[in-house]
Amino acid sequence: MTAQPAQKPAASQRPFILDPLFRSVGVLNGVGPKYLKLYEKLLGGTKLLDLVFHKPSNLVERHFVESIKDAPIDETVALTITIDKHTPSPRRSQPYRIRTRDKTGFMDLVFFNVKGNWVEAQFPLGKDVTICGKIEDFRGTKQIIHPDVLDAEKPEKTEVIYPLTAGLTTKPLRKAILAALDQAPTLPEWLDPAQKRQQQWPDWKDAILKLHHPEHDNDLEGATKHRTRLAYDEFLANQLTLAILRLKQKKLKGRTFTTNGPHRQKLLSSLPWPLTSFQQEALKEIDADMGSNDRMLRLLQGDVGSGKTIVAALAMMNAIDSGTQAALMAPTEILARQHEQTLRPYLEAANIPFVTLTGRDKGKTKQSILDDIASGRAKIVIGTHAIFQDGVDFQDLGFAVIDEQHRFGVHQRLQLSNKGKGVDVLVMTATPIPRTLALTAYGDMEVSRIVGKPPGRKPVDTRLLPQDQVEDMMQKVGEQIKHGVRVYWVCPLVEESEILDLAAAEERHLLLQQLYGDKVGLVHGRMKPKDKDDVMQKFANGEISILVATTVIEVGVNVPEATIMVIEHAERFGLAQLHQLRGRVGRGGDQSYCFLVYAHPIGEVAKERLKTMRATEDGFLIAEKDLELRGSGEVLGTKQSGLEEFRLADIAAHADLLYSARQDAALFLEKDPDLETERGKALRTLLYLFERDQAISYLRSG
Ligand code: ADP
Ligand code: MG
Repeated sequence: MTAQPAQKPAASQRPFILDPLFRSVGVLNGVGPKYLKLYEKLLGGTKLLDLVFHKPSNLVERHFVESIKDAPIDETVALTITIDKHTPSPRRSQPYRIRTRDKTGFMDLVFFNVKGNWVEAQFPLGKDVTICGKIEDFRGTKQIIHPDVLDAEKPEKTEVIYPLTAGLTTKPLRKAILAALDQAPTLPEWLDPAQKRQQQWPDWKDAILKLHHPEHDNDLEGATKHRTRLAYDEFLANQLTLAILRLKQKKLKGRTFTTNGPHRQKLLSSLPWPLTSFQQEALKEIDADMGSNDRMLRLLQGDVGSGKTIVAALAMMNAIDSGTQAALMAPTEILARQHEQTLRPYLEAANIPFVTLTGRDKGKTKQSILDDIASGRAKIVIGTHAIFQDGVDFQDLGFAVIDEQHRFGVHQRLQLSNKGKGVDVLVMTATPIPRTLALTAYGDMEVSRIVGKPPGRKPVDTRLLPQDQVEDMMQKVGEQIKHGVRVYWVCPLVEESEILDLAAAEERHLLLQQLYGDKVGLVHGRMKPKDKDDVMQKFANGEISILVATTVIEVGVNVPEATIMVIEHAERFGLAQLHQLRGRVGRGGDQSYCFLVYAHPIGEVAKERLKTMRATEDGFLIAEKDLELRGSGEVLGTKQSGLEEFRLADIAAHADLLYSARQDAALFLEKDPDLETERGKALRTLLYLFERDQAISYLRSG
């Protein structure tokens, strides 16, 4: 087995004191390549640090019994027995058995697939051993399969339980975690001494030891001293990173844009409807930012269909009126194309040359687009992250809009603003984020919110439907499509398996096709972008009336004629996702419906989610509820959202710590912006501990 230290980034100045934690789990005894893979899967990394940060989920009291006679069948107990006789497996298919006894009777210990002689070594004849395991009855004799062996002198009264993954059991995991903890160094203190004293927080090392050595159930609770300290550390690293990035951006000179110039006027007057008051308000805030010479970094939040895009377009006019270029970037090809379609009539009406650049553009076409961008002939560039790439040079990029849908990170935002001199940035997001979460993702970014929808929209009628009524549903949509209605039919989310997702969607597609022939289409994540676009296009223009889709159908795709949304196995979806999916109907003037089809068993949290969906369409309310539900141990949603995931902190339980970490970070950076004082240096260690090396590269002496 090779012991590979995890790679240190070339430029990293990570303090040596952290090195032990950044070594590979492979350095531990008994951790070979197979375990490395399992650890990677479970922890998302293979460093000792990843083990140390793996929180226990439970504490089980061991049930000690006096004798074999007292050990109840089917229960997990601990007891002391004497080794009587070994019977190695006579055939490969049969287990190795050990007969044991005490004064009350006999019991067998059973081992499958024994290799080598470890069983003999661990259970010498005549020895007393304390073991733990589930008592089974095998042809009238009690037995334990693969018992745990406890320390006979002082057997641990409790067992610490961790989240696991298939193929990895508690025992080796616990052993690895304890071995990793042995490597944990004593770290310099980065906490403010007064705060630490006041909160009675332990040192980092004591806190991390306590995390893995709970003595009582309540030691596992979020509100304990050691857990709050560890949560605070993590929030502090997060907030410090955001504050450093923000400072760096502020240092770059901003520009002063003309607001309300002729292009803006022209675009405004070409709109067939007045802006809503929320749109006007957002635009006013954006104008104030752009008109000042501070760097703008503003978040525009609003539900799908709330009218963000037109606000962004009006803001882009400021850049054009000031003689610079503007860019609009979407997370996917399909959304970039849709933005192009939406904006085309407006841009053409206002006589503004624009180009669209995505990863699909190649060769001559691409070159001519790049030329237009470099020469400044193109005033507006719409595209995917292809806009970021090297080789894309703007003549003068002044303003960038990032339609984020949660899929870009902070660092990519920086990358984009490095494309121009003092680029003002507006980030749009369609998923309403609760304030606390917004803070972890965007720090002190200014926020404008568009609440509600443009006038004339009817609320979506949302109904719950048991799985056994799906057949009926298939019949009913047939009636509807005769009248020109279009239907989204979303198929179940099968956890972690795109292939199974697809199988379910394909099956439903087939069944619907048997009823309605080529009026039914299928779209899924494994299709080529071009094929996906084609199907979406057919759905948009009505060639297809029923679109069966896996969950990967793009957020934000706009088909106003679609008024029915069917979501199968809705109980498996996160709230944010359900809300996004439902947002695709209710976009025209007609009454829309959303059918949430559920199957049993359905858990309490899932029930709450469905009830919430039926009760409200307010994205901000739904987002708060989502956070609340996820706080109770539910993690659906974050993974898809691309939002920061915390390992030690629990965003719902520790929200107040987040606010205090934010203040701490801001105040400290005012005094020591480059982290050079003693506490500053300790804070650098904190940033490295949480792998925020990039933040450090923005410090003067980083
Ligand atoms: P978002 O980008 O927030 O998803 P859009 O900007 O695409 O939303 O707007 C959704 C739809 O509402 C579009 O068809 C747009 O033309 C329309 N719309 C936007 N603003 C208004 C308004 N003030 N009044 C009426 N319709 C509007
Ligand atoms: Mg400005």
